[in-house]
Amino acid sequence: MASANSGTSKIRVRFAPSPTGTLHVGGARTALFNWLYARSQGGTFVLRIEDTDQERSSEESHQQILRSLRWLGLDWDEGPEVGGDHGPYVQSQRRARYDAVIAELLDRGIAYRDYSTAEEDEARKLRLTEQGRLTASDWPYRNLSEEQRRRYEAEGHAFTIRIAMPDEGHIRWTDLVHGDMDFDCATLEDWIAVKSDGFPTYNFACVVDDGQMEISHVLRGDDHISNTPRQIHLFRELGLRVPKFGHLPMILGPDKKRLSKRHGAASVEEFREGLWISEAVVNYLALLGWSPGNDREFFTVEEIIKRLSLKRLNHTAAVFDYEKCRYLNGEHLKQMPLSQRVDRSWQVLAEAGVVEADSEEDRERLGRVLTLLGNRFRHFDQSVHHLSAYFADDFPVDPEGATVLEGAGPRLRALAERFAALDPFDAASTEAALRALAEDQGEKAGPYIHPCRYAVTGSTSGPSLFEALELIGQERVVTRLRATAV
Ligand code: GLU
Repeated sequence: MASANSGTSKIRVRFAPSPTGTLHVGGARTALFNWLYARSQGGTFVLRIEDTDQERSSEESHQQILRSLRWLGLDWDEGPEVGGDHGPYVQSQRRARYDAVIAELLDRGIAYRDYSTAEEDEARKLRLTEQGRLTASDWPYRNLSEEQRRRYEAEGHAFTIRIAMPDEGHIRWTDLVHGDMDFDCATLEDWIAVKSDGFPTYNFACVVDDGQMEISHVLRGDDHISNTPRQIHLFRELGLRVPKFGHLPMILGPDKKRLSKRHGAASVEEFREGLWISEAVVNYLALLGWSPGNDREFFTVEEIIKRLSLKRLNHTAAVFDYEKCRYLNGEHLKQMPLSQRVDRSWQVLAEAGVVEADSEEDRERLGRVLTLLGNRFRHFDQSVHHLSAYFADDFPVDPEGATVLEGAGPRLRALAERFAALDPFDAASTEAALRALAEDQGEKAGPYIHPCRYAVTGSTSGPSLFEALELIGQERVVTRLRATAV
């Protein structure tokens, strides 16, 4: 991609969440692309907390966003907790900067105090909707004389501060995702930079900060497209370099509505709590916004950094496919060193009370169970379901499989007795004993294997039965066979 800047300037990108809730998957994808771009270009990734909406912002949300970003592995070079040369990185701590800029803009007549009443505002909005454009006469407070202004002030009228937009002309930019964009200035109202309570608006604080933080590329959700011409205008008025913009499409649920809890996990926090592997979520989010140029789906983050090209960003809304994300979770789980897989599933089992947290013997056995399960174990949320039968007497049983038990009582009883007599009790000895029993009865092995698997593991499918029996252990196996045969 061609650089927006003179060849020598640095790539500086930012993620600028508002701490008004959890980090949504859409926001995470935005953060990820900024981070990936910075990492692929040797640039700087800045994190800025946009908390100018005092009522909706919370410290809790701020902290949760940091935690979610860290969980995803998206470290920031400048921002809260790490500092940097362009701080502070929390907008509520930058008030003095906004005040100074707005004073300058008021002085230069680029911003003005607008004393419109709520009714005047309403009427203007209606005109804009009806006519599709506004004219200078819609903005009676743009050019008040000093005397008129004093009078309004003396009368105690509340005011906002607006940025005057040109009445004519166009604002254009080449969007990194959507290509050429063109806004007719007559359709853009003079926008509020400072609210009546003295707080800056998002559009205003964003431009001041992107300017002062020397941001070179703004990659954000395409719900911000309509803000961009306003921001470009202000960048120009402030004599600042206009960054390159790229607006990433929305992430939707299967019903084509914005992804939400109704569809499944919609915030990073829910993925974390749902025991997803963060590398898989990152892999999936990257694929949602970008085509690697072939059919490959599994990528490590290092591979994505190497291949990322802003030219191949998708420009249509993406539907979040949980199945594909789950598939990738399984692929990333396979790549995880066994010790890590053991750590994570052990924690889940211990929390669920399936194992005693300090049982070294069970922990060692868990490694062998996970190796045996191999590809069948694709998500840590399957831990209790897939692993309990190996460690506890209380384990999930698939009610639909019960038909395999029909008429199997005598076989299971006989098998229990043969197994009880085994020493050693392992995969080879159990297999030999089962096959010998079937042969003695003039039967095939299948009518023994299937009910045995179900009685011992609660499921009709699974890994090699005999390996599983060895890992579950003689006492448990015999007890389960006897209990089921009754
Ligand atoms: N605080 C804005 C948001 O969360 C940031 C938008 C931007 O990146 O400019 O949507």
